[in-house]
Amino acid sequence: MNSIEIVAIGTELLLGHTTDTNGGWIGARLAAEGFTITRRTAVADDATAMQSAIRDALARAGTVICTGGLGPTTDDFTKPVVAELYGRSMVFDAAWFDVVKQRFDARGIDMPAINRNQAEVPDGATLLHNARGSAPGIILDDPHLGTTILLPGIPFEMRGLMDDHVIPYLRERLHPGPPILERWLRTNGIAESAIAERVADIVPDLAPLAVSFLPNAFGEDIRITCWGDFDRDEAERRLADAQHRIAVALEPFVYARDRNDLAAIAGDALRERGFALALAESCTGGLLAQRITNIAGASDFFLGSVVTYSNDAKMKQLSVRADTLVAHGAVSEQCAREMASGALRIFGADVALSITGVAGPNGGTDEKPVGTVWIGIATLDGVNATKLRFGGDRAEIRMRASQAALALLMRSLPQPTITA
Ligand code: AMP
Ligand code: MG
Repeated sequence: MNSIEIVAIGTELLLGHTTDTNGGWIGARLAAEGFTITRRTAVADDATAMQSAIRDALARAGTVICTGGLGPTTDDFTKPVVAELYGRSMVFDAAWFDVVKQRFDARGIDMPAINRNQAEVPDGATLLHNARGSAPGIILDDPHLGTTILLPGIPFEMRGLMDDHVIPYLRERLHPGPPILERWLRTNGIAESAIAERVADIVPDLAPLAVSFLPNAFGEDIRITCWGDFDRDEAERRLADAQHRIAVALEPFVYARDRNDLAAIAGDALRERGFALALAESCTGGLLAQRITNIAGASDFFLGSVVTYSNDAKMKQLSVRADTLVAHGAVSEQCAREMASGALRIFGADVALSITGVAGPNGGTDEKPVGTVWIGIATLDGVNATKLRFGGDRAEIRMRASQAALALLMRSLPQPTITA
């Protein structure tokens, strides 16, 4: 009875309108601290269902973290429902009311009457100061029932309360074991089966560390986990060794030794070399430009992108030749090369990438099936193009194409000269 369960509250979670990202985040956070987390439940905005989920979770684990249902609207009623479970009445907390009122005053807004709800709390609860929103976190403790911690559903408020209050509280109350630690490798351009072959001899050797293979639209991620079998130093030493051995076996397909986005990694590489990048995108429709401009400071290395979806736009904007399009089509080596050269020239870039392909679900032919993508890369030294074939639906094909373009860019960049 020294473990933790999570109960995510909200009908939208059951209907799939909102994905329970809170549960995953809390689980990772608790595991990293050495707490044992045993189960996670999602439950509708329904008083009976909520009470039975929390009661059962408390009986199994002793400590329950709930998220959701703390808002001021009528569909949020976690507080009174949990108060009833603990046999408490609801009371008005004047101090929290003042906090919320002052926040509205500071913004020059009249506080809506409905916000008074946010200061209604179960009698005897410990309130956790929410620096990012109007609902306080709430802890209810009972020697027979156990401890229930209520947090808002809004992810950034929940995360703030976890870090500021819940983790320190739990550290004092429960006695966490060695932390669960993990390391990552991210690969692109190598099939899962090929990865399995290359690491077949290594993985059994790493036990009790566990190695998981996680395919996704960015490539294949590999997670190496130490489930609390060693103290921190020994765990870190084994994880570093395991990560190194697997990375060596998977060269040159490893692009990250953490969880970073390849767009950010490529951005750093361009910045280090003082290179300016331009893009010409067809089937990705600006997706790669969006990924790159998600990075703060992208203006250091990114000049711009032209989205040329039609043949006409490819000719007018990038000077792709009509002959090329007639003879080879838009999804072709020649077109990818001319798109990249055009972008290089019009932006005055050091390097330009182009992406042209068939994202589907329609438009595939025997010669160019759905998932066929040509990626061009132009520099002042010349231009070339690579043909790739991706699986997945339209969204996955587009993401895989943007990822492959970045991977090709990384492989094409000259290694920085090391000066002593
Ligand atoms: P609530 O606290 O129930 O009013 O939830 C406020 C908002 O937080 C909802 O509209 C959801 O978008 C979001 N939310 C609630 N629960 C979760 C969850 N478990 N994971 C991610 N987002 C959530
Ligand atoms: Mg809700």
